Order: sequence, then structure tokens, then C-alpha cells
Amino acid sequence: MTAPVLLRGVTHAYGEGDLRKAVLRDVDLSVAEGEIVLLTGPSGSGKTTLLTLIGALRSLQAGSCRVLGEELRDATEGARVRLRRRIGFIFQHHNLLGFLTARQNVAMALEQDGDLAERERLARAGALLAAVGLADHAEKLPAQLSGGQRQRVSVARALAAGPGLVLADEPTAALDRASGQEVVHLLRDLARSRGVPILLVTHDPRILDIADRVVAMEDGRIVDDGRGAAAAG
Ligand code: ADP
Ligand code: MG
Repeated sequence: MTAPVLLRGVTHAYGEGDLRKAVLRDVDLSVAEGEIVLLTGPSGSGKTTLLTLIGALRSLQAGSCRVLGEELRDATEGARVRLRRRIGFIFQHHNLLGFLTARQNVAMALEQDGDLAERERLARAGALLAAVGLADHAEKLPAQLSGGQRQRVSVARALAAGPGLVLADEPTAALDRASGQEVVHLLRDLARSRGVPILLVTHDPRILDIADRVVAMEDGRIVDDGRGAAAAG
């Protein structure tokens, strides 16, 4: 079985001509089936750029990037859209729609599944909200929830459609310590129980304990893939 994420020699630059600036240099990275990998590194080291390439949110310039069996080099926009639907995304700010309830926000992620009736989508969304401890808050709008509760809705939404991979970009950055830990522990437990791999960007040292492996980036390169010690032993 091939790894859900497999990158080889990924190089990326922003800008044109004299302003062209390399932000990723020859990145090799893999995430195995069911693995939880944290990606750390200073601000500006290229973490978000790497995550958006893997999530097919940006087109690949050089190297090879295979995600859930799809090669993203020279992929069409249609192929990238189809791949994005198989990935659960969680961002730093919750990205929920303010005029929809928690339940409706989660149910929206199920809309691509044309076979599901509206009632069934809402029921499944309710079950997921219960799984993240929000059974009593399903009918609230995002503004009526705390930051930690909103991120828990984001976790439920990211997992709703049965993704093959979860990509999270600093999901605890806007949260205090306790609610940040609660959110990532819920994410870890839900993903584990479903065998879904996670690639999570963070520079929050308080959540490193959820990882199977911690990968460190610096200036566009991977300086530690978290395998060094294990491979030697
Ligand atoms: P990180 O997530 O580790 O902070 P980013 O991937 O956001 O790093 O950014 C890496 C570098 O690329 C930074 O120098 C940043 O300023 C630059 N950068 C990020 N996005 C863009 C963009 N859309 N256009 C131009 N430069 C960008
Ligand atoms: Mg970033």
C-alpha cells in the first residue's frame, strides 16, 4: 500500500523575476496510513505553503507529490477539486459560516454526497457533534460558542465526509492552553478510531505529545524528519 502522503523533491517559489523567492527546497516527506505527524518550525519556514500544496489548494511547481494515490504534478484543476473533497481541512481560525448553526456547518461537508437526504445529513452531523462533546450546542451559531467549541465544530466538520487525510494548520493558535489541548486530543482520538492520518502544522509545544512523529522545518527545508533516532535503534 502506498503512503497517503508521499513527497519527493518538492521545490516552490513565490514571485517572478528578480522578486522570485524560493520558500521550499527539495522537500521529501511521507505520512503513513493512520500516522499522526506534526510539522513544526519558525514562522516563515514554509509550513503553510507545504500544507497547501499537499491539500491541492495550490499548484505544484517542481517535484512529485502523491496524495491519496493522486499525483499532483501536472494535475488538472478538476482532479485537484476531487482530491480536496477527500481531505478534511482545519485552519487556525475556525472558518465556520456565521449564519449557519453548528449542525448546519457540519452537515454542509456532507452535501457532496448526493445520495444523502437532508434529514440524514443533519442526523449524522448531530452524531459527530456529540462525539466532540457538543450535543447540547448543535443549534447554536458560531458567535454563541467559545473559541474552543468553534474549533471542535471544525474538527467534526473536517471528519464528517469520511476523509482519507486530515490537514490542520495551527488549529490551536487562537486558543488557550486547556481548550487547545482538548481540541487536538479530540481530533487525535476521532482520527485514530477511523484510521485517518493527520498532518498538523503547529509551533505549539504543548501539543507535541499527540504526534507519532514530529517533523522540523527551517528555511524551506526539512531539517529533522523525526525518524533519525528510531531508525538507528
Ligand atoms: P510558515 O507557515 O512556516 O510561517 P509560509 O509557508 O506561510 O510559512 O511562508 C513561507 C515564506 O513564503 C514566507 O517568507 C512568506 O512570507 C512567503 N509567502 C507565503 N505566502 C506567500 C504568497 N502568497 N506570496 C508571496 N510570498 C508568500
Ligand atoms: Mg503558516
